[in-house]
Amino acid sequence: MRSILLIYTGGTIGMIQDEETGLLKPFDFDYLSNEIPELKKLDYQITTICFDTPIDSSDMQPETWGKIAKIIENNYAQNDGFVILHGSDTMAYTASALSFMLERLSKPVILTGSQLPIGIIRTDAKENLLTAIEIAAAKHPDNSPVIKEVAVYFEYHLYRGNRTTKISAQQFDAFASPNYPPLAEAGVHIDYAFEYLKPLNENFNSFNVFYNLKNTVASIKLYPGIRKENIECLLSVPHLQAVVFETFGSGNGFTAPWFLEVLKKFENQNILIVNKTQCLSGKVEQGKYATSSYFTKVNALSAGDMTFEATITKLMYLLGKYSSVSKVREQFLMNISGELSS
Ligand code: ASP
Repeated sequence: MRSILLIYTGGTIGMIQDEETGLLKPFDFDYLSNEIPELKKLDYQITTICFDTPIDSSDMQPETWGKIAKIIENNYAQNDGFVILHGSDTMAYTASALSFMLERLSKPVILTGSQLPIGIIRTDAKENLLTAIEIAAAKHPDNSPVIKEVAVYFEYHLYRGNRTTKISAQQFDAFASPNYPPLAEAGVHIDYAFEYLKPLNENFNSFNVFYNLKNTVASIKLYPGIRKENIECLLSVPHLQAVVFETFGSGNGFTAPWFLEVLKKFENQNILIVNKTQCLSGKVEQGKYATSSYFTKVNALSAGDMTFEATITKLMYLLGKYSSVSKVREQFLMNISGELSS
């Protein structure tokens, strides 16, 4: 029998409405099958590990990603797949971070959550949870897992985790993967897009977890009228190693001389400058317009078509992993875990 580990971290999915007060409160997972009797019909052995104090995902921190990764590491060999129940607000960040931290992963790690709590009649939680479990348990006839990566399942779609972003605070269809096709669609059957799935990694037994993320990164979103001082104040942030500029269109900034002056100050302080478009889809093409030429002058790194979530967590991972700046620069431009198109 296939075994699935369910990790409950918090978020709306694990809450029920208190009948008396009407307030949302964390759900006792021992009673999971009472709330979702359909779970008993699944022919899998499901084990649950809950955070002692379930959290709203807005309170997630790199240490919490480490805690989730540790649970996966400790239970990796005994389980066929993992389902992480997580609030939707920062799910794309956790999925992106785990996609880097879980090195040479060859089992499914599926994050899911919901917009409405499990006890509510119109909840999206049941479908999301049941299908996520089914995906985490799916195998090929040769017994190898169908999914061998970190993915997000939400409202009938499975997405590559480090390609997702939350696009709606209210819609059930809360996530998008603007620059990479869905990995699967769930209808009557679960239709996998096999050509877009990660292939089986050859070092099947070399799974490793990298914990040492460094949050010495910052970001600044450009807008017409931004003041030089708003950008410059980042220069005094202690230990800052990288700054992500959220730029216009295909990676454009300003042609005003003060902008080059500020960029140069970052370069002189050895702070990596990353050029990430504010657009939801498409990629940075540095050097296409005059307005991006200053980024080229200061050797800014192009974030290509990566999401903001993948850009930030990839930097945290690389800064933790390599002390050499040139190695961080080189690796940032490479596709490490399916987050970047060539
Ligand atoms: N604020 C909640 C969270 O992210 C929302 C949700 O669960 O979807 O934890």
